[in-house]
Amino acid sequence: MPLRHPYRHHRHSETRRRESPRPRRGKTLFDGNDPVLRERVLEIHRRLSATYGAPFPYFSDKDPLSELVSALLSHRTRNEDSRQAYENLRARFADWQALIHAPMEAVQAAIAPCTWPEQKAPRLQQVLAEVARRRDGVLSMDFLAELSPTEARLWLESIPGIGPKTSAAVLLFSRLRIPALPVDSHHHRVAQRLGLIPLELNVGPSHAMLQAQLPEHWNAQSLYDHHEAMMIHGQRCCSWRDPACQRCPLLDLCPHGQQRTGQV
Ligand code: SF4
Repeated sequence: MPLRHPYRHHRHSETRRRESPRPRRGKTLFDGNDPVLRERVLEIHRRLSATYGAPFPYFSDKDPLSELVSALLSHRTRNEDSRQAYENLRARFADWQALIHAPMEAVQAAIAPCTWPEQKAPRLQQVLAEVARRRDGVLSMDFLAELSPTEARLWLESIPGIGPKTSAAVLLFSRLRIPALPVDSHHHRVAQRLGLIPLELNVGPSHAMLQAQLPEHWNAQSLYDHHEAMMIHGQRCCSWRDPACQRCPLLDLCPHGQQRTGQV
């Protein structure tokens, strides 16, 4: 039977719900413990994992501070451009401490391949300086390994300029391998179309909701596989402009796809 988008009938109150889902009958509307929702998410995970070949090898093995620099550079930037900007920083500055004290124009020139280098250069210096200040001058975030995933995310997100996507990327993609679910624009779009989150929910607040729908005991590799599979699906099948619903392995689970293909 075709599935309805579970949130379509609540659109008039989405603005109010966006940041803080309100309790309903003793549980939140987007409760990750809802067995129907949980089973749907797991089935999506199983199918995409099989389709795209999970488990996926990690693409990075950076220390968490270097991963933070990389994540800050990557915002709305093609991978090859942010990679080039990161390599430029590595080549032009002896270490991250040197970057803090470098002339801002020099940092900006090094990261010119990125989008908005004039904004990212001062932000990089401010964020790194703030890490050093909080750690009594020690510019390292290896200590995050001693915290719980929740504590580590709270510590990172309390620094101005670090949001949920960056904090999750630092914890999961770095050599720390701490379980945290990043949500990029592809992952977010696929989740919206599948009805896992409200259509109007922004990427930032979607992190907590989407991670709450996954089993709490999942380790870093499982969360990495889920993120990678959703992202790859968004790149190869569920594109922004023209999703290939007819060949999608999730069509029978997808309200948006069923609507596009005339099944509802
Ligand atoms: S059915 Fe279409 S809209 Fe739904 S996930 Fe697949 S490609 Fe995307």
